[in-house]
Amino acid sequence: MTSEQLRQYLSFYRDLGVKNLYRRAPGVAAAAVEKPPTVVAVTPAAALVELPSLAPVGDTLAKISEDIGDCKRCRLCEQRNKIVFGSGNEQARLVFVGEGPGADEDTQGLPFVGRAGQLLTQMIDGTASKEGIPIKRADVYICNVVKCRPPENRTPQPDEMEICGQFLFRQLMTLRPKAICALGSTAAKALLATKDGVMRLRGNWHKWHYIPVMVTYHPSYLLRPYNQNAKREAWDDLKKVLHFVYD
Ligand code: URA
Repeated sequence: MTSEQLRQYLSFYRDLGVKNLYRRAPGVAAAAVEKPPTVVAVTPAAALVELPSLAPVGDTLAKISEDIGDCKRCRLCEQRNKIVFGSGNEQARLVFVGEGPGADEDTQGLPFVGRAGQLLTQMIDGTASKEGIPIKRADVYICNVVKCRPPENRTPQPDEMEICGQFLFRQLMTLRPKAICALGSTAAKALLATKDGVMRLRGNWHKWHYIPVMVTYHPSYLLRPYNQNAKREAWDDLKKVLHFVYD
């Protein structure tokens, strides 16, 4: 790789908000990934680092999925059954980003197919129908920050989010939707690099690389009986998103 190519790689990832790159020793079997990968600062010394491939011109979801492969880049590979890449309309004008697969998603290899997924479907289909917007869940695209289920559904750790976030960013760059809806604080953190919580961020537009982002509550949070006020707010957020994208 020439130094100019390296410079382009690094500035591409810096623009995406990726501040650290991770190095696995060449030839190390993936199963041997037990401890967090080495963090390599983005400095000229990174010339020796084996970089993840740059999102090429003409990147496609199929290519991204192929690059993920039988991923062993972080510890989440150890207990997963299926990688959950994403699903929906590849021409979607709206993309929902969740946190990471749960048990049902891990079994089926599809995002948001468990209880939270059923609620998300109701929210999208119900709100669209009430608002006279002719779309259904199948018309949007849905994916997650991390593609493998965290054990016991724990919150993904920062290095896991950063490693897998590279693929999320490529998905979003490829889909180039009119808007993104971030479901919950993990998605908000991954896209907006903020420490603010959902309560603070929701209801207003933010930006990820010029693409408007609406943050709202994660459907799992809305399933808890004591969060019924949040449900109303989430419906309001979704209404805003749907009108913005489809009017
Ligand atoms: N929760 C998520 O964040 N994503 C899923 O795919 C399912 C549940």
